[in-house]
Amino acid sequence: MSEQFDVVVIGGGPGGYVAAIRAAQLGLKTACVDAFIGKDGKPALGGTCLNVGCIPSKALLDSSRQFHNLTHSFKDHGITADNAKIDVGAMIARKDKIVKQFTGGITALFKGNKANPVTPIAGFATLKAGNVISIKGHDGKVAEISAKNVILAAGSVPIELPFAKFDNVRILDNAGALDVNAVPKRLGVIGAGVIGLELGSVWRRLGSEVTILEALPEFLGVADPDITKAAAREFKKQGLDIQLGAKVSKAEIKGEEVHLTYADASGEKTLVVDKLLVAVGRRAATAGLLDPSSGVKLDERGRVIVDEHCATGVAGVWAIGDCVRGPMLAHKASEEGIAVAELIAGLPGHVNLDTVPWVIYTEPEIAWVGKTEAECKAAEISYKVGTFPFAAIGRAVAMNEPAGLVKVIAHAETDRILGLHLCGANVSELVHEGVVAMEFHGSAEDLARICHAHPTLSEAVHEAALAVDKRAIHKAN
Ligand SMILES: Cc1cc2nc3c(=O)[nH]c(=O)nc-3n(C[C@H](O)[C@H](O)[C@H](O)COP(=O)(O)OP(=O)(O)OC[C@H]3O[C@@H](n4cnc5c(N)ncnc54)[C@H](O)[C@@H]3O)c2cc1C
Repeated sequence: MSEQFDVVVIGGGPGGYVAAIRAAQLGLKTACVDAFIGKDGKPALGGTCLNVGCIPSKALLDSSRQFHNLTHSFKDHGITADNAKIDVGAMIARKDKIVKQFTGGITALFKGNKANPVTPIAGFATLKAGNVISIKGHDGKVAEISAKNVILAAGSVPIELPFAKFDNVRILDNAGALDVNAVPKRLGVIGAGVIGLELGSVWRRLGSEVTILEALPEFLGVADPDITKAAAREFKKQGLDIQLGAKVSKAEIKGEEVHLTYADASGEKTLVVDKLLVAVGRRAATAGLLDPSSGVKLDERGRVIVDEHCATGVAGVWAIGDCVRGPMLAHKASEEGIAVAELIAGLPGHVNLDTVPWVIYTEPEIAWVGKTEAECKAAEISYKVGTFPFAAIGRAVAMNEPAGLVKVIAHAETDRILGLHLCGANVSELVHEGVVAMEFHGSAEDLARICHAHPTLSEAVHEAALAVDKRAIHKAN
């Protein structure tokens, strides 16, 4: 008879591994099945996030930021360093070491819950009727286990364009762009979304000529336009060439080059690059995940259909993270994992998708939580706005980081905070002030009455909250 678990999690990314740990903490007999193979050819937990996403991209963003500061802004501090060089091999090796540390750490965390460790299983899982999971191991052998509850946490994979197939030599997906072994002279990027901007920034800071082609006419349409305008100004100064309304129709590898054909408002154009990153979005990794007998339904985009509690409608089958609706973000996946493990254990698990923060780790960083002005208008919510620039914040100027601003959107009558939008240094941390305030139904007045330390970047949040009622101190209202 197949081994029976209380919970089997399919997928060991930030949704799946976190769900497995929480389920085990709650005393449930838990296994976590994951198919990912790391760079060393061995199974690696951590999913997209730890292996080829959040963590390696931030490692390279940090290395490239240090190099860029050394070659560009250190001189403003009176520091000069002649003949600065970048050793791309060493930079990639540092990134790989960090990845290994964190993916290996999950195995330790699984064992760490000594009374009830999580059982890791390497292989590709398919869910069948009756919560039976068929697992094809990396040696080709197939085994079956079963569970009272199954959590589908299969994540997502990059979308491939039919005319630009990934070879990860010339035409790169996100994993390929994290493993380039020399600075490409010319890098083309299709897609000015989070991944295109972050990975484009890495290689631009190291000296590549980076051209980003975006089919949509608007830059980062999901974010607030005041924020994206401020960011776009800085990206332009950095030499990131972002072309909007540019639809690519062809990408041909010719020798060591990729020849792109695209059209914008002024007609058809060509662009020749040495490497091309295709970053046009991601799709749910549900191919092969579900046997038709499972009864679990997918939507038109291949995502598992779930209700607000991540239940699929099939008894005991749940789904979380990138393979379901909602933002494709690691922290959203993890929160859903915790909520589902708690619901399975009979506790009241819950995720508030309205207060999930978004961050883009460019320079300046972009972050937001809650509604934009456009969303308020569409929902016919009356609102008021307060903004404050980092250029008027002493700490930001002392840090040589005066770019960007903070914008608070509050309800016109109740003053309740509807959104916090930021562009500037370290705003990936500052955005949580808005998350906490919104979780506690806070008002702009609440933020304005809180004493913020001086001198800190958080004073811009304080001043923007004061500006909602036209009483910012360090600017004209
Ligand atoms: C370059 C890049 C940078 C990013 N940066 C950020 C960031 O800074 N912050 C942020 O919040 N998000 C970021 N993301 C997004 C983030 O990585 C995802 O939102 C997150 O990993 C989703 O977690 P998940 O657990 O749902 O899925 P995943 O992390 O994709 O994990 C799913 C796992 O399931 C495995 N799997 C799939 N199907 C099966 C199967 N049938 N059987 C067994 N195993 C299976 C996969 O191999 C994978 O290991 C980034 C993504 C990329 C590509």
